[in-house]
Amino acid sequence: MLPKTLTADLHTHPLGDRYCRRPVKMISREDRKDIRAYIHHLISRGVQVAACTDHDMVAGGLFARDLAAGEGLPIIIVPGTEVSVLGRTQRLHLIALNIQRDLPASRLTLREAAREIHAQGGAAVLAHPVRYPHEIKMDPGMLECLDGLETCNGSEGVFDAGHLLDAESRYGRRFILQTAGSDEHWERDRAARSRNCHACSFEIPVSWLVEKKIISRESAEAILKAVRNPDLRD
Ligand SMILES: [Zn+2]
Ligand SMILES: [Zn+2]
Repeated sequence: MLPKTLTADLHTHPLGDRYCRRPVKMISREDRKDIRAYIHHLISRGVQVAACTDHDMVAGGLFARDLAAGEGLPIIIVPGTEVSVLGRTQRLHLIALNIQRDLPASRLTLREAAREIHAQGGAAVLAHPVRYPHEIKMDPGMLECLDGLETCNGSEGVFDAGHLLDAESRYGRRFILQTAGSDEHWERDRAARSRNCHACSFEIPVSWLVEKKIISRESAEAILKAVRNPDLRD
């Protein structure tokens, strides 16, 4: 039996702003060291599923995923990016979960970016909508291309989606997962002990992760066993 939920943080920046708008394919030795330290920090926070979503660059997230899986760490890392997209009046931030290739920053509309994310087998989550509620008000139809809405962000605060989504978190016939993310920038925030990142975790339904093909049903049980019982893993 799969557990129903896992503790997740779906918005993190292990490499801070280091490669914002200038992504690379190969990360450095220092980057790898920082990512390793950050994963252990996430584990110490009790996070079981984390999306590594550095600005504009997925290379760090791919490395983090392979590191966690290769070393049997009790955490599932989802590679991703946070990319700027064009809204009606300003740039919006879109979290691309489980992608393999970088998206061009600031050149795509929200719908174009979501299409590209889905073409890569990923999921699209609008980051910190609390920063631009007027954009959603002007264009509520944007929810039709989103898989999630980050209603709790560690830097920006809480967005009440009650006026958009029904009690089952549906917009029309579409289920939109309400996500949370610390938005931790590891370099910048590692000294700031005052931040309460536990408030930025949430219980993610495993069924959503499987449905979005972020984890496969076959591997889910084994991964989840290691996550739930770190002492039992091989
Ligand atoms: Zn952002
Ligand atoms: Zn961010």
